[in-house]
Amino acid sequence: MKRKGIIIVVSGFSGVGKGTIMKSLTSRYDQYALSISATTRDPRPGEENGREYFFVSNEEFEKLIKEDGLIEYAGYVGHYYGTPRKFVEDKLNDGIDVILEIELQGALQIKKQYKDAMLLFVMPPSAEELEKRLTGRGTEDLDVIRKRLARANEEAVGIENYDYIVINDDLDECVEQVHSIIGAAHMSSDRNQEFIDTIRKELNDLVK
Ligand code: ADP
Ligand code: 5GP
Repeated sequence: MKRKGIIIVVSGFSGVGKGTIMKSLTSRYDQYALSISATTRDPRPGEENGREYFFVSNEEFEKLIKEDGLIEYAGYVGHYYGTPRKFVEDKLNDGIDVILEIELQGALQIKKQYKDAMLLFVMPPSAEELEKRLTGRGTEDLDVIRKRLARANEEAVGIENYDYIVINDDLDECVEQVHSIIGAAHMSSDRNQEFIDTIRKELNDLVK
């Protein structure tokens, strides 16, 4: 039976370690395709256009929206973020799992459009540790950090929309948990209806 690709949505508060987890997961396991989003925010030091994000202007982003080039998009602390359609659809058609590292509003849009998407939320071990990581990353000024923590507080209300939560305390352990959850998602009965139907039919024919 051909393995069907599923969309895996990964969300979590800013600074919880989503980017770090995704880098480790995709370097350990080559079966995942990580979608690269378009954003209007500026690159952080060390980020490259086309690797972490496609960094675009407001006009370019609005053009993508108009052309239906994004499967979802949202505003986040003063900037647009969105998932390019073509990459996701191509990978799913090839039977490859696609990971979208996106925030809550986008996750809800995906859940509506792709019924078998799996939604996973990364939690910090504590709020204090979250603040420490966000500040320790050193890539945002205090005003932006404050806004991102305020957004975390808002997003916390939506966690129950997710299928699973993982705690990013020990990084390696968290990466393995994410990999296991995705593996288990592939074995859920509702993602295997075709196979169930096939065996049912074979069995039926056998006893006739
Ligand atoms: P996000 O993508 O969720 O905004 P990052 O991946 O940029 O977060 O991580 C934020 C900071 O936390 C980085 O400095 C990263 O090195 C650190 N970090 C990530 N995971 C852990 C962990 N398990 N323990 C300690 N620090 C971590
Ligand atoms: P950052 O600026 O820290 O890279 O990302 C800010 C937030 O935007 C994070 O919560 C991240 O998951 C989210 N994000 C990144 N790309 C996308 C996207 O394509 N769509 C949506 N909806 N959110 C995104």
